Amino acid sequence: MSILEQNWHDWRWQFANRLRTEADFASLMELTDSEKQALSDPSFAVGVTPYFASLINVRNPACPIRRQAIPLGAESIPDIHDMADPLAEDEMSPVNNLVHRYPDRVLLIVTETCHVYCRHCTRRRRVGFEEKPISRADLANAVDYIRQNSNIRDVLISGGDPFTLGDQALEEIIKAVRAVPHVEVIRIGTRAPVTNPFRITVNLVQMLRKYHPLWINVQFNHPAEITPEASKACAMLADAGIPLGNQTVLLRGINDSVAIQKELVHKLVQIRVRPYYLYQCDIAAGIGHFRTPVSLGIEVMEQLYGHTSGFAIPTFVVDTPGGGGKIPILPQYVLCQTPDKVVIRNYEGKIFTYPLPNSKRNEV
Ligand SMILES: *Cc1c(COP(=O)(O)O)cnc(C)c1O
Repeated sequence: MSILEQNWHDWRWQFANRLRTEADFASLMELTDSEKQALSDPSFAVGVTPYFASLINVRNPACPIRRQAIPLGAESIPDIHDMADPLAEDEMSPVNNLVHRYPDRVLLIVTETCHVYCRHCTRRRRVGFEEKPISRADLANAVDYIRQNSNIRDVLISGGDPFTLGDQALEEIIKAVRAVPHVEVIRIGTRAPVTNPFRITVNLVQMLRKYHPLWINVQFNHPAEITPEASKACAMLADAGIPLGNQTVLLRGINDSVAIQKELVHKLVQIRVRPYYLYQCDIAAGIGHFRTPVSLGIEVMEQLYGHTSGFAIPTFVVDTPGGGGKIPILPQYVLCQTPDKVVIRNYEGKIFTYPLPNSKRNEV
């Protein structure tokens, strides 16, 4: 292996050599005026691993990888609906770095650093500016909160990207959470298999598997992200017994079609990643140009249910502005309900009747 090849496969080299400036990108492709304008705006966090940048079609300004990685001028055009913190995470944060929205699970934000700063980031108000992990004091406080709330049985470690931390720093966090007796399941949300797949090393996987049951959710948004490198990273995690889920965000101009979504879920199950959520794009400030109508998500679901394997179908959710949590949205399959029957339709639009049990029967 040449020195360059060795570097290419080294996740730390990828991280340290992220493309960040107009000059960095201009050395690889001809930038559009909109991209140049956005790259000169210091209020945007920009960072792209050479690996993820290598997936960009440099001749196509609409390339789905490019549009997730390089900002556009549109990011600074406000939308009347924009909110800095659409999910009210700051309000629902009882201690630093922890969001407690649901009764039995919490979100623990362990870093604000990523391998790639996604242009559609919902947490863009805070991610990418201070590239430092959670402090020991804040971690201790957050773990204390979890310890004192015995209804918390599921801890979701996220960020930023937790897999920007080194193995030791990450293990310190996981170990502390695992030491709380009532925490049944630990989850990690990471985009590393997509944005820096070399982060998934033998050492990392050996460390993670000590803390089962451990689940990981990744974020593939487009079939072009499912490369041999990404597939290998997912295989290493899956081989360690870690169930993998995927959270896709519906993004205008990137993956806003039934055909792309269908190809994506089929490719995901081939690499043993189960589609988990399909998200309606949040109303975070600066990402309005990515939003699609909710009817598109419903149409995608309509074309998946019944048409393909059940385990390849995600749940379409709207994460509600104001902090109401994720609300699942389904096509309408129940046509009518009476005391003795429900009338339902199948994926082909054929109508069926399901007779309800006679409540008098049990009185004999
Ligand atoms: C999404 C989210 C969770 C996890 O929700 P699930 O539906 O269980 O995947 C937990 N806490 C917060 C604050 C979230 O935004």
